[in-house]
Parts: sequence; C-alpha cells; structure tokens
Amino acid sequence: MIERWGVAPDTDVVVHEPDEVLVRAGDQLLLYRGVPVGLVRAVVDAASPPAPLGDLLDRLPAGTDRATAEDVVRRLEGVVFRRLPDEEDRGPAAPLVVVVGDGPLAEAVAGAMAAPGALAVAAAALPPAPPTPSEWERAGPAAGHPAGDADALPEGVRLVVVAAEDAPYGAVMAVAADAARKRVPVLFVVPDGGEVVVGPTFVPGASACFECERRAALLGPRAGDGLLAAALPALTLGRAHPARRPAAAALAAEEAHRAVLDPGRATLLAAAVRVGDRPPAPAPLLPDERCTTCAAAAPSPDGPLARQAAVAVALAADRRAGIRVRPRPGPADDAPRTVGVIGGGTAGYLAALALRARVPWLDVTMVESTRFGVIGVGEATTPRLVEFLHSPDGLGLDIVDFHRRVLPVWKLGVHYDWGPPGGDGFAWPFQYGAVHEAVCYGGSLDDHCLAEMLMRARRVPVFATGDGGVTSRLGAVPFAYHLHNARFLTYLRETADAAGVHHVDATVASVECTPAGDEVAALVTDGGGRLAFDLYVDCTGFRSLLLEQAMGSPYHSYASSLFTDAAVVADVPHDGAVKPFTLAETMDSGWCWNIAFEDEDHRGYVFSSAFASVDEAAEEMARKNPGMGDHWSLRFRSGRHEDFWRGNVIGIGNAYAFVEPLASTSIHMTLLELDLLTTNFPASRRDRAVPDGLNRTLGRMWDNLRGWLAVQYRFNTRLDTPFWQECRRTVDLATAADKVALFRERAPLAVASPVAKERLDPFFLSRYAADYFGQDYVYDVMLGGQGVGARWVPPATPRAAWEEAVRRRRAVVDYALPAAAALELARERRPDLLEALVGGPSFIGDELY
Ligand code: FAD
Repeated sequence: MIERWGVAPDTDVVVHEPDEVLVRAGDQLLLYRGVPVGLVRAVVDAASPPAPLGDLLDRLPAGTDRATAEDVVRRLEGVVFRRLPDEEDRGPAAPLVVVVGDGPLAEAVAGAMAAPGALAVAAAALPPAPPTPSEWERAGPAAGHPAGDADALPEGVRLVVVAAEDAPYGAVMAVAADAARKRVPVLFVVPDGGEVVVGPTFVPGASACFECERRAALLGPRAGDGLLAAALPALTLGRAHPARRPAAAALAAEEAHRAVLDPGRATLLAAAVRVGDRPPAPAPLLPDERCTTCAAAAPSPDGPLARQAAVAVALAADRRAGIRVRPRPGPADDAPRTVGVIGGGTAGYLAALALRARVPWLDVTMVESTRFGVIGVGEATTPRLVEFLHSPDGLGLDIVDFHRRVLPVWKLGVHYDWGPPGGDGFAWPFQYGAVHEAVCYGGSLDDHCLAEMLMRARRVPVFATGDGGVTSRLGAVPFAYHLHNARFLTYLRETADAAGVHHVDATVASVECTPAGDEVAALVTDGGGRLAFDLYVDCTGFRSLLLEQAMGSPYHSYASSLFTDAAVVADVPHDGAVKPFTLAETMDSGWCWNIAFEDEDHRGYVFSSAFASVDEAAEEMARKNPGMGDHWSLRFRSGRHEDFWRGNVIGIGNAYAFVEPLASTSIHMTLLELDLLTTNFPASRRDRAVPDGLNRTLGRMWDNLRGWLAVQYRFNTRLDTPFWQECRRTVDLATAADKVALFRERAPLAVASPVAKERLDPFFLSRYAADYFGQDYVYDVMLGGQGVGARWVPPATPRAAWEEAVRRRRAVVDYALPAAAALELARERRPDLLEALVGGPSFIGDELY
C-alpha cells in the first residue's frame, strides 16, 4: 500500500521573503514562517503528478536536503500538499465528482476542479423543468418530487456539484432528491441577485440542502408552509455575474476537494457563502424541518463526511441559540441622547465621528470657534489611526478615497537619532521584532525586523515581483500615516457633515453649571445663544474650557519627567526621497521632528524654554536645516487631568491630557479614549461605574506613557549640553522606574512576561489599542536601542539561525519599492493594494499562530 502526495488544486506559492512563504490556496492567503522558499518551490514542482513521498523526494534537484524537504511537505500538509487515497483503495480511477449544469458557471466550476490526478470530473445536464406550482400543489410532496424522478446519477459518484443558472429551482431540487436517494452528498453553486451562493454541502440526513437554504433566504424562519413554499420549485435562478464566476468556482472547487479527499476540512457543511462585493464570509445554515427534499432523503452511511456534517450542524445550532445572537439592550429611558462636542480640532472631529458611528441613538452637535483656530500640529500618527479610520469596527471610511483626498505618507515607525554619541541611532518600528537577538548578536537594534530594515533603506513593504508586477505586504508590516494637518481636518469636517453631525460656529463665552456645581447645565455663546446637551465632550485643546475651567478637575503635571514646553515649527525641502518614518533628532535643548511628505519635510524643534528662547531654537534649527522656510512657535504643557469624565463632561484630546510629541502619541491616545468611551457608553445618565472606571483606566495609561517617554530623556547620551545633562541627572522615571531596574538585572523584559508571544505576531494593529506604552516589549526597544547597561539572558535562537534570517530579510529589502513610488502606485493605479487591507482576506493565515 503506497501513499501518494500531491499538490492541492488552485495552489500558488507567492513568495515574499526568503524565510516566509505566502501561499494562495483557492481564495485564501496563508503565510508560513521559517519555511525555505526555494525548497517549497522545488517540492511543489516535484509533487506533480502526485507520487509516493520517496519518489517525490527523488525528483528533487541534486543536493537538496531530503530531511528538510520531507519536513516541509509534512508541515504544509493540508493546504499545499495533500495525501491522496491509496491507488489500491481508489481503484484505477480517481474519485468521481459529477458537475451538473448547462451554463458557463458549471463550466467554470468543472474547470476549477480539474486538478491533475486528484479527482475525476464528469459533466451532466440538469433534469427537465418541473411541473407548474399548481400541478405540484395538486400532487403534493407525497407524490414525489416536482421534477419527476431524474435518476440521472451514475454509480460510484462521490460528490455531486450542482452549478445551475437560468434554471427552475425544481430542477436543482430534483438533482438533490436523486442524490439523496442514492446517499451521495451534493454541493450547490447558484446565482442569487448579483451574488453567487456557494454551499451548503448537503450530506443527506445530516445537513441542509438547497431547498433549506432557499427557504431560509426567501421565506424566513417562520414561513414555509402554504402556497409560497409550494411554489418554490417553479421559481427560477438567474444568471451568474461573469465577474463572480471565477471566485465562486474556485471556492466550490476547494470545498469539493475537501469534501471528497479531506472531509475534516470541509467548511460548508452547515454554511453557505455569498460571493459578491463584500468579502465572502460563511453564513451558518441549518436543515429546515419542513424541507421536502430532506424529508425524503435516506441518511448517508456513517463515515467521515457524515460525522463532520453532524458536528458542524450541532455547532451551528449552538451558535444560533447562544449568547452571540442575543440583541444588545437598547438605551434606557434616561440615557444621554444629545451630545455637544466643543472644539473642532482633530480630537473634536474624531470624537463626533466616533460617537455618530458607534452610539447610533445619539444626536451629535459640533460647536467650534473659527475665531480661535486649531493647534495646527499633530501630523505623525500610529497604526491605530489606520485601523480606526478604515476598519468596519472603526469608522469604515474608504481607504482609497482617503488616500486621494488627504495624500497621507506611510510611516513604518520612528527613527531616533538618539542614544550613544556618534552612532546612527535606532528605530522603533511598529512591527514587533527580534530585539533580543539583534542586541545580543549584533550589539544594536539594526536588522531586528523587516520594518526596521525597510526604514533604513527608505522603502516600504510593496515589492516588485520581477515580472513587472508588484505585491504588497502592507497588511503584515504595520504602518501609520503622516497627515497634512489642514488636509486631514478638511476631510474630517466633510465626513462629519455627511455623517449627520450638526455644526454650530460660535465661541463659548461662558459655561452655566447646575446649582450643585457638579454638572454643566448649558453653554452661553458670544452671540448670547444658549446651548444645552445631555453630555458635553470637551475638545477645546489646552484651554480645557469645561473639564478644567468649569468643572475644576485638578491637573497633574508631568513636568518633572518631561522638561520640554515649547516648539518652533517650519517646512524644509527634502532631497526627493520620501522617508517612510518620523525622525526624532537630538538637539541642544530638546529634539526636532521630521515628518516627511511627498513635496517637503515638516520639521519642529521641541525644546525647554528654561534652556533656550524661541529665537535661539529657531537659529539652531535653521543652521541644521539649510533652506528652512518661515517658522512659527507655540507653547504646551505635559500632564493630565485627574478626571477623564467628571459630571456630564468628558475630556478628549489635549483638553484632557497631552504629553510632548516625541513618540507621536497624541492622536493615538485620543483614539484610545474614544474606544473606551464608545464601547462603555452608559445606558443611563445615573450610571457612575463607567465614568469612575474609565478615569482610573485612562489615568494609568497616560501615566505609563509618561514613564516610557521619561526613559527616552533619561538615557539619551547623544549630546552633552546643559539640557541633556539636566535630563540625565534629574528626569523622574515615574512609572518606568521598576521596569528599568528589572531590565538592568535581566534583559529583555519581554522574554519572561506574558506578552512575550507578541514578538511572534507582526500584525498587531488591533492589539495596538491596548495599553501599548506599558508593555515590556516597547521598553526593550527603547532601553536596548539607547544601549542602557543590562545583563542580557542568552537568546533562544542560535546565532546561525538569526544571521540566516537577517540575510534573507536583506535580500527582500532589495525588491521593496521606495516610499514615493509605492504611494503613487497604490493611490493612482493599484487601489487594490489598499483595498486588500480592509475587510479582504487576511494576509496572515491561522495556521501560523
Ligand atoms: P486643538 O487643535 O487646539 O482644537 C481646539 C478646538 O477648540 C479649536 O477648534 C478651537 O476653535 C476650539 N475652541 C477652543 N476654545 C473654544 C471656545 N471658547 N469656544 C468654541 N470653541 C473653542 N499629536 C500627534 O498625534 N502627532 C504629532 O505628531 C503631534 N505633534 C505635536 C506637536 C506639538 C508641538 C504639539 C503641541 C502637539 C502635537 N500633537 C501631536 C498633538 C496634537 O496637537 C493634538 O493631538 C491634536 O491636534 C488634537 O488637538 P485638539 O483637537 O485636542 O485641540
């Protein structure tokens, strides 16, 4: 008995990095790590036609390591490689699948299934049209199926795939009834409106059939008896949209192969998938107890597929009954209904949009004063903004439209021109990387992940494939945006208008409080108008008009940790290369940001007014930036209020808290505040637990951020000016003190902590919302990058393996496109590169983690 190995149908090995393999199987994309690419290609070639494993290994090019090749075959079993039924068990022919249908959809399905050697595919026509509904009604189900006894299936068939177009439902039901009598499973592929429904896989006696699916889709759970249900057989299927046929066919072929060769992996045994505009997602489907086809079916013999079907149906039934489908409670009678957002800066508009999108019963009014204007800086962000703007769980805003209107630049992290004198500094990329190995084997953070290497090469994760095409890994290497402040605000304003946010242009002249002084009663505008809301969201920036001035929330300053309090801002020409990162450059009395745009760089010198005047700072900046344009300056303070939420006032953005912008964290923290506010939005005005809990949670998160930034001032030894001497001597590490002490004794922090697993996961967009700046990993980056003295434990990865990984990454960086070229390409000619990021199939397969 010799077992044969073959390649799954529709499998394509799309290589991105030498140590990572992206495999397309049907319409799934799966990423494997630590699998040598050249070897995968060689083994895939060797596995066609299918062969026993020994023969397959013999076919490999001379010099190939057989043990590693065998390991690769076994690791990728299931998706890339399949064990085929033994020749003797199978008999001379491959298992027979009959594709029933007359049109191009059936042709596409049969074509997609024809993988060499795996299955034998035969075509069959649909049976003749069924009787009219009235004939069917007169005869009744007991008289047999309306299409008559088709009895068309040959013996020995293992699966029937009905791919019908332009046909009466009754013809499909007739095939199902015939198959059910012969106890053969059936997979249905039918057009419905502009979509194609793939599924269910009907296992007679166990799972739902076409008629069950149509009853659920057309008649709903309660209807089903009576004339309408009786008329079902005479309804007619339309024609599949030509653009949908290939995807539907690929999906059907994948399911057919699974059902016949690998039943444990069949996915449509209690589900159907709609192939249309939206990403295909299986919708659960249960057998309908009034279904005439199922009622007449003889149960399938006990076997792997029947058991899998029974399990899938039981789980789908549990899900239907379970907690997930219970409706959320609506708002209580005294729930807050009206919200005034005071202040039209970034924080105000993001707050208004988030409240509109996530608390549907709220009436949201934006009150802003064009007299005051906005702070006008705040252009570097974190990946959280990308997810918040575009994901379906966030605002769901069109990513392509956003790129065309706002012209963002992608940012992979922050490069710190920082640390010991004379060095190149280090990167804090948004991708998690091998900090431990990089420091222990290389003595710095250089090469610790792909994003870090791309940043140094000024490239982005869009790769030339060598055949004139490109392929994107933007979904696997997290990125953020550089945003032109005015363009971004215009976009937010227009989006808020379209979302139904009311707008009042007025200056709030005074605030009326309730007699007890514990809530705001109304706002009085400079024109004498009176505005009253149930809740007030204070987004008035550093003025903190409501939270601080009206409600008196105490202010906790971070000045003992963060000494800077002023900035000089100017535009500077660049050399034509767009930097895909924010630069933080050490300066005499602080540091200078560089936020790259396609046409120029925006720079800002953040300094301590105790060590330099505005003129001195501007002079130093101009000296270091030839061609610098006119400058302007501003003042700020670092710290937070005691309350995020006091009475009926919530502070968002600078009105609640702000830390100096070294790590571009302000918008990130604003989004965190909005996430927590909207997901915990109280059902009643009397509820106090939510505000009290959020005050504590957010206070801790801001304090963690303060500590992490303090580390960046305390240990930067790049310059020996009075400002930096003072930092090294007196910066209060605050919440970071314990972490620094532990790091010195046993680095890295992430190794023995519960977040160690994070290092393996490059795709942390959603997790980025958590208390990121309190995590051990970001401390390791910052302390390791600055070369803070520590006893490092030996890494688990051997040096040779680390060096090999670096070598492979280096080779890939050569294929990556420069930031400007990739941006222009995605925006103008290949919007699919952006669209694939949102809601499309994940770039990261479940198998990896
Ligand atoms: P503002 O932009 O100041 O808006 C306040 C609003 O309140 C205005 O619309 C104003 O008209 C209105 N208002 C005030 N008083 C009244 C009144 N009485 N009546 C009616 N309306 C009123 N963040 C980042 O994420 N990345 C960065 O790179 C970054 N860099 C920064 C650099 C510096 C030097 C500074 C100081 C901040 C930086 N920030 C950065 C923070 C950034 O400024 C804020 O995150 C962001 O702009 C939000 O500001 P805001 O909306 O809270 O306040």
